[in-house]
Amino acid sequence: MQDNDALVSFIDDDNPVLTPDGAHSIAKTSAAPWRILIVDDDADVHSATVFGLAGNQILERALSFVHAYSAIEARSILSRESDIAVILLDVVMESEDAGLRLVRTIRDELGNSSSRIILRTGQPGYAPEISAIREYDINDYKTKSELSHTRLYTSLTAAIRAYDQICRLEASRRGLELIVQAGSELMGEQGLRNFASGVITQLAALIGVASDGLVCVHENVAGDEGEEAFLVIGAAGRFAPFIQRQLGEIADTRVTSSLRRCLTQRENIFGDGFIALYLPSQDDSTFAIFIEAAQAPQQPERDLLEVFCNNAALCAQNIKLVERLHQLAFMDTLVQLPNRASFIEAIDDCIELGGKPTHSIALIDIDQFAEMNNAFGHAHGDAMLIALAHRLIEYFGERTLVCKLSGDAFGLLGLSESIIPEFVRPAFSHPLTIHEVEHNLNVSIGYVRLCDTALDGNSALKDAAIALKAAKRSGVNSDATFSTTVGTEARERTRLLHLLKSAFDAERLFPMFQPQIDLASGRAIGFEALMRWRGEDGMMIPPDRFIPLAENSGMIVALGNWILRSSLLTLRQLHDAGYQNLRMAVNVSVVQFRDPNFIQHVEQALVASGIEARWLELEITESVAMMEANSVGQLLARLRALGVAIAIDDFGTGYSSLSYLEKLQADRLKIDRSFVASLEQGKDGGRIAALIIQLARQIGMTTIAEGIEHAWQASALQELGCEEGQGYYFGYPMPASALPAWLDQSLGSNKQTGATS
Ligand code: C2E
Ligand code: MG
Ligand code: MG
Repeated sequence: MQDNDALVSFIDDDNPVLTPDGAHSIAKTSAAPWRILIVDDDADVHSATVFGLAGNQILERALSFVHAYSAIEARSILSRESDIAVILLDVVMESEDAGLRLVRTIRDELGNSSSRIILRTGQPGYAPEISAIREYDINDYKTKSELSHTRLYTSLTAAIRAYDQICRLEASRRGLELIVQAGSELMGEQGLRNFASGVITQLAALIGVASDGLVCVHENVAGDEGEEAFLVIGAAGRFAPFIQRQLGEIADTRVTSSLRRCLTQRENIFGDGFIALYLPSQDDSTFAIFIEAAQAPQQPERDLLEVFCNNAALCAQNIKLVERLHQLAFMDTLVQLPNRASFIEAIDDCIELGGKPTHSIALIDIDQFAEMNNAFGHAHGDAMLIALAHRLIEYFGERTLVCKLSGDAFGLLGLSESIIPEFVRPAFSHPLTIHEVEHNLNVSIGYVRLCDTALDGNSALKDAAIALKAAKRSGVNSDATFSTTVGTEARERTRLLHLLKSAFDAERLFPMFQPQIDLASGRAIGFEALMRWRGEDGMMIPPDRFIPLAENSGMIVALGNWILRSSLLTLRQLHDAGYQNLRMAVNVSVVQFRDPNFIQHVEQALVASGIEARWLELEITESVAMMEANSVGQLLARLRALGVAIAIDDFGTGYSSLSYLEKLQADRLKIDRSFVASLEQGKDGGRIAALIIQLARQIGMTTIAEGIEHAWQASALQELGCEEGQGYYFGYPMPASALPAWLDQSLGSNKQTGATS
């Protein structure tokens, strides 16, 4: 008997590398010698067998021998070795049936079902029973005398062939299993980068090599043949440093040229010491994998690799789709900035990482963007948003996150010291040049210190919206910071809205009427209806406070219809009482204009009051006029066709374009009272009033000036060519019941100083 150490060193000498999990590695099974275990207590049998078979090849592979001199020794070898192709087993050793017992152990205990077994015995009398041969998958039974060299060789060849087939079947089965498993693991990867390293790991496991490899993507950029189109998106082992770098940066030309060839010729390459695999794809970017492999896989394994590639390509496609969806879900595609969902997520992350005490957000809204958009066209508006996005990115740099939250609103998240008006405002100090037109940007900004706000991104953004609204209320280009008071104000507005509703129901809303005067004759030509709200405590709540509320809640539609009806009924009473030729001017909000039944309501109010359409004037603001060019134009045309007059209120404060005004064909421009007020202060205000009057003339409109408080304003305006006026100088807004008396007085004296209610 040989000692165990010698045996071990013998085995180690030509022991092929085993895969870690004991799988038959696809690449390795092909070329290693077949290992034959000779189990016999007779040393002569060992040497005779080796002698007889030495130098022979079976299925183009050499033979190597492992020796055991007892059943126990054989058992211990077999429990360590998994790639013994054939066991030449003596039946009689330690005991008369030691060999047969060993067979049982191999199959049952060691779970080895692939090694082939040839039983040999000196005496025919020790032949195993047929049942044992069948049960234990024994290939052959020979007496030692029968085993001449040729017969042994034939028998061994048959056994090895069987072993080889069993192994290949097993390898395919395991390979497919790995591919299926790899597929499901790759599918779960988030993002192409993870996918790429996953592919390398899976592939390395599949072919049983170390994971030295990389995945390269080839973007099919039109007209771009350069190297920059080949990018390493994943790498492992010695290639790891090349992730996200150009393929050309790898000095090893074996890698670069094989991957380029693989990608451009769309084929797998089995080279000397490596494999380059092509992942077919239906879109413009294709992938290829490079992996170090000492031995090239043979045919059946190549088929498996193809299955793997197709499978991985499908996964890649899916991942790209998911990434695209992700991008759509989290990016604003117009300006290429993270969107609202990303913004909220970023705030959440910031809070989670403990950034609450140090970080702030800002919500930026471009003032009168919709008007600008309508005046200059949507392409221009888009260009403005893109330009502003660039401006913000450039101005705030990397430490502040810039997002686009909605149509014309941007969000900032950064350190509190940089999210304050003093730092943010200068970003808007220079005009933006769009298509060679310079735009001075007015923006309203709401700020929130995360330490002042609630728990998450969503509520922080809500608070920013509250602050923004507060900013908007103080006029264009304003800032407001969220505080508990701002929060309280928001709650206050909600309370007010409830009160407004009940006031409307309880008829505590009513119109007041302010006279409008022909400046030349000093005679009243009509009234403007102005809504009033008397609170439960008797205090008056000004329309500037409750109209926006009513607009935001949509309640303005009902309120507007009601004021239209009731003021026309008041006019009816005046006409009936003999005060003829008076018109009624009624304010109409944008929201009412969007109501599809608006025209119908106007007609109904006219019919109900029996007032001719020509005595009704609707006052729309510039923002209505600039709303949606087409729909407003059509609506105004229909109103004018009815005979209703249109005045553009607060003219000069909005964002009008002249061509637009011309298209709308309103009857009258109402000069905003701020221009009237500045008549006295200097030339500028006067110049604007003069300009508006001339402009109106040129496009065939008349003008009415509002807010006239002094006689000299009235005459100055009249000199400039303004036809009509309205203001405290002529009369305060008064209740319907006071109108006849006021009219009597004013008609009698032809012009009155401010009559009161
Ligand atoms: P507006 O349409 O420009 O109305 C003129 C405002 O100027 C009125 O304010 C009026 O009282 C005020 N006013 C008149 N003469 C003078 C003057 O000599 N000096 C000064 N300083 N102010 C004068 P009021 O009634 O507070 O209305 C404010 C705004 O609320 C209105 O501005 C209008 O936009 C809106 N509003 C009022 N009633 C209604 C309504 O029934 N529907 C709609 N949609 N808006 C309304
Ligand atoms: Mg008005
Ligand atoms: Mg006005």
